Amino acid sequence: MVRKPTKKSAFAIIVAAGSGHRYPGPQAKQFLNLCGQPLYLWSVKAFQKCRTITGIVVVGPQHNPEALLKMQQETTFFDKVIAVVAGGESRTASVCSGAAALTTATANLSNSDPILIHDGVRPLVTPELISKVVEQIGLNQIAIPTTTPTATVKKIIGKTITETINREEIGLAQTPQGVPYGLLCEALDHWRKEPTTKITDEGALIENLPLGKRAAITFINVEGEPGNLKITFPEELQQAESLLLKKMDKKEVPYKPCQATGFGYDVHAFAAERKLILGGIEIPGHTGLAGHSDADVLVHALVDALLGAVGAGDIGQHFPDHDPAFKDLCSLYFLDQTMKIVREKGFHLEAADITIVAEQPKLTPYIPAMLNMLRKTIASPCQINIKATTSEGLGFTGRREGIAAYAIVTVTAR
Ligand code: MG
Repeated sequence: MVRKPTKKSAFAIIVAAGSGHRYPGPQAKQFLNLCGQPLYLWSVKAFQKCRTITGIVVVGPQHNPEALLKMQQETTFFDKVIAVVAGGESRTASVCSGAAALTTATANLSNSDPILIHDGVRPLVTPELISKVVEQIGLNQIAIPTTTPTATVKKIIGKTITETINREEIGLAQTPQGVPYGLLCEALDHWRKEPTTKITDEGALIENLPLGKRAAITFINVEGEPGNLKITFPEELQQAESLLLKKMDKKEVPYKPCQATGFGYDVHAFAAERKLILGGIEIPGHTGLAGHSDADVLVHALVDALLGAVGAGDIGQHFPDHDPAFKDLCSLYFLDQTMKIVREKGFHLEAADITIVAEQPKLTPYIPAMLNMLRKTIASPCQINIKATTSEGLGFTGRREGIAAYAIVTVTAR
């Protein structure tokens, strides 16, 4: 998926493509829950907030279309995110994917444009550090934030300590690391010739260039932030959580109600040569409704009510009506995906009450089948009610121009 950037400035590639072998559990660490949000999304948030950043490319895991689709949905609200793409076998291969997506999405990138590459598992990066890195990037100059080790550093060969190293001369590298666009492309092209070379950060990627080229490049040390933790083990996640909670503005902490109500409303006009689909079933012998998907107005109202109840926006944000993937699609898919969102947000659907307003056809005989279909899709015990009514000949529904639907749902915290 590629979205258009707004203006030219510094760009970021957030690499969240790892499989997280070192972190215990089935979930890759970039998707772990940190204060109610996936870990990688905190980095996206920091770059979105930073004024010097214009565009962000998020690199997700390869061979995992479900995770990628979820990342696309989760980043919809961040207008600086210009692409969400799949990464590669290694970190550098993922940076290659990110750089390629950036080139595609951004017209006229110049060689000197600053590109920041950031690990998606460093959720506590600050907009201040991002700006400091951007400031230091030049045509032949890269910028790397580092911190000084607090412990005494020893050199070890085998089982023997051979010397104590002056820790003032040592830096622990962090991200984001900043490289001008031209140099980044050159270094990635060079690495592709021997992609087995192990590269752990962009500093090492530039060091990997032929000596003559490398000699002309200055590596600027930027003072890193001790709180810019890289999450590798569960203890670091806990540490990040307590740091984040301390740092978070109280109003930023999402409030989770014990119970919530959501309201949904939708209208579709009649259109010739379309099937009439309501509540996931076909109503035979009647003109259908116009729409990008199957125009199931009842399901759309229900989806909007559910999204409203769990504070997750609206149907257009999650399933845009310009996305070819949703063309003529059965709206029960939206309901199924929305129920996943409801569950992920930690809620259970208790009850839904839906009113459908249509002068024609008479819908009462079809309500049991609709209820059946909705229950099957929702797939968890709840009370659902559907009512069909007319508007007594008044308004657009009365003039038989289309159908309207209203839905109210109640959810409870699990
Ligand atoms: Mg609709």
